[in-house]
Amino acid sequence: MNDAQLLRYSRHILLEEIGVEAQERLLAATALVVGAGGLGSPAAMYLASAGVGRVILADGDTVDLTNLQRQILHRHDALGRAKAESGRDTLLALNPEVDVVALTERLSGDALEHWVSRSTVVLDCCDNFETRHAVNAACVRHRVPLVSGAAIRFDGQLSVYDTRRADSPCYACLFPPTDAVEEVRCATMGVFAPLTGIIGTWQAAEALKIAGGFGDPMVGRLMLFDGRSSSVNEIRLPRHPGCPVCAALRAD
Ligand SMILES: [Zn+2]
Repeated sequence: MNDAQLLRYSRHILLEEIGVEAQERLLAATALVVGAGGLGSPAAMYLASAGVGRVILADGDTVDLTNLQRQILHRHDALGRAKAESGRDTLLALNPEVDVVALTERLSGDALEHWVSRSTVVLDCCDNFETRHAVNAACVRHRVPLVSGAAIRFDGQLSVYDTRRADSPCYACLFPPTDAVEEVRCATMGVFAPLTGIIGTWQAAEALKIAGGFGDPMVGRLMLFDGRSSSVNEIRLPRHPGCPVCAALRAD
């Protein structure tokens, strides 16, 4: 790190758990943020400000007036722009040293495999089950830890799936891909603006711990946050021995 970096990241370096070594690991890390909306906004902003070397921001949507209540990566004057590009501009304004890659597409197929395989950690900040399952399967295949968040109405969820660890479930252990699930969307159900900030910020915290190699990421635990009462509940997540996504990996 040069002198400016030592200053920029000095409040991290002061922390016994982080110090120069973990900060160097953050600078060398790549984080893939899938979705530049309510969760991806605060998540990506903290990753960039905290010095993750490369942030890949993927989103196929454009900025809409209904987004601005919570998607703080995007300013009013970004209406109509691609979210990934609007987000990249905000991240570079926060920290021009970060290498930001803007992908203006809904990640799937070969592109998803390509970017997941190059990532230190993946943050699922998307809003649909198809992408969630595709991202999970790619993370399992490439053994990349996944920080998964969700926010709807006043209800938030968060967990970390890290199938490099034998005791960790994957997203599909919990939500089998064959289950018929009804998509719940902010567009129809509504969402409390700061809830997305709380959960997205928490995702950034877990991703920084994983990429920096400090603390104890919440692997095998599902955190449930109720924004009405500001209460947190946690449940243990076992892995599913018959999971169609990760069971074969375990048998390798
Ligand atoms: Zn699984």
